[in-house]
Amino acid sequence: MVEEVSLEDIFAKIDKGELKLHELDRFLGDSNRATEVRRAYLERRIGARLDNVGKTVIDFNTVVGRNIENTIGAVQVPIGIAGPLRVIGDYADGLYYIPLATTEGALVASVNRGAKIVTEAGGARSKVINDGMARAPVIAVPSVIDAVELINWVNDNFNEIKSVAESTSKHARLLNIQPFIIGNNVWLRFKFITGDAMGMNMVTIATDKAVKYILSNFPRARLVALSGNMCVDKKANAVNFLLGRGKTVISEVVIPRNTLEKWGVTAEDVAEVNNRKNLLGSALAHSYGFNAHFANIVTAIFIATGQDVAQVVESSMGITWMEPLDNGGLYVSVTLPSLEVGTVGGGTGLPTQKELLRLLGIYGSGNPPGSNALKFAEVVAAAVLAGEVNLVLALAKDELARAHEMLGRAGKS
Ligand code: NAP
Repeated sequence: MVEEVSLEDIFAKIDKGELKLHELDRFLGDSNRATEVRRAYLERRIGARLDNVGKTVIDFNTVVGRNIENTIGAVQVPIGIAGPLRVIGDYADGLYYIPLATTEGALVASVNRGAKIVTEAGGARSKVINDGMARAPVIAVPSVIDAVELINWVNDNFNEIKSVAESTSKHARLLNIQPFIIGNNVWLRFKFITGDAMGMNMVTIATDKAVKYILSNFPRARLVALSGNMCVDKKANAVNFLLGRGKTVISEVVIPRNTLEKWGVTAEDVAEVNNRKNLLGSALAHSYGFNAHFANIVTAIFIATGQDVAQVVESSMGITWMEPLDNGGLYVSVTLPSLEVGTVGGGTGLPTQKELLRLLGIYGSGNPPGSNALKFAEVVAAAVLAGEVNLVLALAKDELARAHEMLGRAGKS
């Protein structure tokens, strides 16, 4: 019986190689106990203390096998609140408090101030203009002739492929299959609506079944990898920028002239910073982020709400656009082409993450399904807008102050 095995006996088995650390869950029949034992073993072996890593509200029996393996505890990241932020979307409508998990001082204060400016200006208008999670297997064929035949076959049999793919899930809906060819290699980029889930597991399972069906009808083709890197998951890339992945979302606001005056800047001052920094500087750097700091806000919200944080790579791509208006106001928009968010699945069900999704009023399945994830995307984009507004305005104000200082000094010398 497990209870009869002492900690010393377990450690001895591990040291002798009779028991692996990752086998403790099965050996003890309890992932919470396995977590404690692994931690104790590491403390003994390395001589480091892990007391704080052990303090958590997570029940490891609910996350092992779903979110993580070989657990030893949890890290804690402080959470601050920015807002209230008024968001006017097709799904979001009202004032939202944005949870931001970060260790970067001044970030929450910066978004908070941006939220005040945006809210006082009437709120952020947010709209999801494209929705779909993609998976793109790479398939080897003998020649380009076969590549074109394969693509024609896929087009001719789209409805059958769609029903095979959708048989794996109640929420996955296949939208299209976009082909790409290099020599005798074919990528089929499957794009699905995934309800309230971010959808990566869902579309991987659905694409796996669909591609096996395709290949059973096309024996000259061979699946090389279910992910052929044209999806594109967790890599900086142009494909998602142009074709979208997850939610393509835009949030916009017009900041009135009197608000800008209160800051001591004009619309032209602020737009100049955006043009020279966010657009020209990013062009020179060949960056995928023509923005000031989308990644700050996206990452902090992703950590707080149980999103897949590695997807910040593509979720934080995007462009900030600023245009002075004839009435002295400033039009500002942020466009995020590939925001990958969910309110079910992944890490959204963890205790603290679930609470923070509830704070936003979007935990779990929406009614209708999919509406919570769309609402979430609208709110994230609005928070990104608030972050951009504050930082670019602050830069414009600082630069102006510095310019005046320099000119003043120059005048005196
Ligand atoms: P998931 O938790 O794997 O799947 C979502 C589940 O929620 C499905 O079982 C779905 O059922 C169910 N569900 C219930 N209500 C729903 C609703 N309203 N809308 C949508 N689904 C609903 O989550 P996922 O988003 O597909 O995958 C996210 C996970 O994938 C993350 O943990 C991420 O880290 C990981 N990931 C995986 C890969 C990969 O290659 N597999 C790559 C990157 C990340 P039905 O399916 O029956 O609809």
